[in-house]
Amino acid sequence: MLQSIPSQFNLDVASTAHSAPAILSRMLRIVTQLVFGFLALLALLALIPICPLPTLGRSTWWLQPFPWDATYDYVVVGGGTAGVTVASRLAEKGHNVALVEAGGTYEWSRPLSRIPGAATIGIGADVATASSIDWKFVARRVPGANYRDIHYPRGKCLGGSSALNFMIYQRPSEGAMDKWAELVGDVSYSYNETLKYFKRTIAFSPPNAESSRPDTPYNSSAFDSKGEPLRVSYPQFAMPFSTWARQGFSAIGIEEIDGFDSGKLEGHQFCAMTIHPADETRSSSDAAFLYSGRGLKTLSVYQSTRAEKVLFDSRLRATGVRVSGIWGYTLWAKQEVILSAGVFQSPQLLMLSGVGPRDTLLHHGIRPVMDAPGVGQNMWDHVFFGPSYPVSVETFSRLTQDPLWLIWQAANYLIRHEGVLTNPSTDYLAFEKLPQHLRQGLSPAVEDTLAWFPDDWPEIEYLAASAFVGNFSNPFFQQPARGQYGSIVTSIVAPTSRGNVTLRSRHAKDLPIINPNWLDTESDQKLAVAAYRRIRKVFQTTAMEAILTGPEYFPGLQFQSDAEILNIIRNTMMTIYHASCTCKMGMKSDRMAVVDHKARVFGVERLRVVDASAFPLLPPGHPQSVVYMLAEKIAADIINSPLLSQ
Ligand SMILES: Cc1cc2nc3c(=O)[nH]c(=O)nc-3n(C[C@H](O)[C@H](O)[C@H](O)COP(=O)(O)OP(=O)(O)OC[C@H]3O[C@@H](n4cnc5c(N)ncnc54)[C@H](O)[C@@H]3O)c2cc1C
Repeated sequence: MLQSIPSQFNLDVASTAHSAPAILSRMLRIVTQLVFGFLALLALLALIPICPLPTLGRSTWWLQPFPWDATYDYVVVGGGTAGVTVASRLAEKGHNVALVEAGGTYEWSRPLSRIPGAATIGIGADVATASSIDWKFVARRVPGANYRDIHYPRGKCLGGSSALNFMIYQRPSEGAMDKWAELVGDVSYSYNETLKYFKRTIAFSPPNAESSRPDTPYNSSAFDSKGEPLRVSYPQFAMPFSTWARQGFSAIGIEEIDGFDSGKLEGHQFCAMTIHPADETRSSSDAAFLYSGRGLKTLSVYQSTRAEKVLFDSRLRATGVRVSGIWGYTLWAKQEVILSAGVFQSPQLLMLSGVGPRDTLLHHGIRPVMDAPGVGQNMWDHVFFGPSYPVSVETFSRLTQDPLWLIWQAANYLIRHEGVLTNPSTDYLAFEKLPQHLRQGLSPAVEDTLAWFPDDWPEIEYLAASAFVGNFSNPFFQQPARGQYGSIVTSIVAPTSRGNVTLRSRHAKDLPIINPNWLDTESDQKLAVAAYRRIRKVFQTTAMEAILTGPEYFPGLQFQSDAEILNIIRNTMMTIYHASCTCKMGMKSDRMAVVDHKARVFGVERLRVVDASAFPLLPPGHPQSVVYMLAEKIAADIINSPLLSQ
């Protein structure tokens, strides 16, 4: 019989107990949350005056382009990570570009998102925690997660998911990019050839004397002094727990390396982040490209405007996009339409426009323009989970327990741009393939599956998180009432389970249905259990024992068998938000490929998909660097190609 999670863990936010101490502790918790809410409000008010004034191309945040039919050279749908990048690069070359974004500007509507230390607020597994700039996707009754409903955060604002993410900036291994090149039959995707596009977006600042880890190793040749405008640096404050985890990783045989931006991942180090070093605020695509005073004169930003469908002429050329803001109208494209609506909504928009699996289209009464069976299929993702231990160093847990400390940290952040709020709480990473001596449990079939991944593609990532993690339903407010907690969570970065996304209805306003299929394969399950055991080994090293103040707090060492550990994983796992590949890039001979090596949709003309959905594979680790790279590469391709005739 599998044991369930011990009841002392408040993993279900809605759970209640009726004893007097429980009621008292609940009341205390509510008071703490009210105090915190009040302080957060004060912090927000304090932030407003220091919010930059946006110069959104030729429009401003308050003055929008007129909401009626207009013609542009390019219409880009989705003002997220990729969309802002592509639209800005095209506008820099003088092209007339319309950027259509369903949300508004988070800098004004949710300034909290600018603070790295607030990154855990609003992105928990419980959708009730979602913020106003989130689409509020929910993956329902996920079998791999013991049939739990899991919130899938996605940014609904200029900046898209780069306005919500954890800001980790890290590039794929050489082998991963070379595999991409092989799958799409284009050597320009190899590691060496894509490096210039990775470098193009990034203005890098090494750790400086004021940071708490000035000696963090990094490889300056991974960056280019001409790169701009996205800011990559290191948080001013390094989490103390991470410095101990660093020793723990070394003790189990993982080597220390000089960062994760030079094509090699196996190793451990502090990670670089998309944080502006001048004021320690989030550098999203929006903050970097649209708010930094670049004032692109040929860029028109349509905020709070939802794309409904792409229009085609009789020769199957994309001619424009039907949108709805205050009312419906059409933005016509003289050259091309570019979909950058993200991993769930780019496939949705393709299907709404008649490009997708024929049966799905007919089922929803949509006239097929092109039967494209791969649209919405092949979804890759990473999940995370891991144990928590009580520790003697100061962690994020204290922010929710000690209002005075919170006030001090908020003031320190706002005035001096220092302290724990400069850090999203997870700042130390390690990657490895499961070591040879631990692979006996993997069947030959699993080893065969894993052989698909190149030699330098790690299977497991570890992330040192200075907080209690549990089931991540409400990460900020779920911290225990007393004590400091450190966790090491793991993510399976060579996943073999594949999910999909499909239409709920024929209307763009109805969010598509996500079926992530996490932990579906034996390979993912075996790696998950092995990685969990490996984390426990890290905590058992002499280095880590020095800061432990007690035994494993969650889930507890009574869970030891593979079946028990797998059950804990299913009860607590959460996506690490890396969904991709739902409009995968590939060769024409691959019927499931949706776009070619230039991100052009097969079977129609003048339509591209440029965002995480167009990845042919999900490289190991964190994908935002790859999204920026792809956007830069395709923008360069468009800029260097002759204009299309009318
Ligand atoms: C909570 C969280 C944490 C993460 N942490 C990290 C991390 O630390 N490091 C990392 O590398 N990656 C991280 N990621 C992943 C990374 O941020 C995403 O992979 C990346 O931002 C995706 O970029 P995109 O351009 O594909 O989509 P998005 O950035 O999501 O952009 C899609 C845009 O399209 C808009 N849109 C959608 N439909 C329509 C429509 N019909 N009409 C108009 N507009 C529309 C959306 O509002 C959005 O602005 C994280 C993601 C999340 C959500």
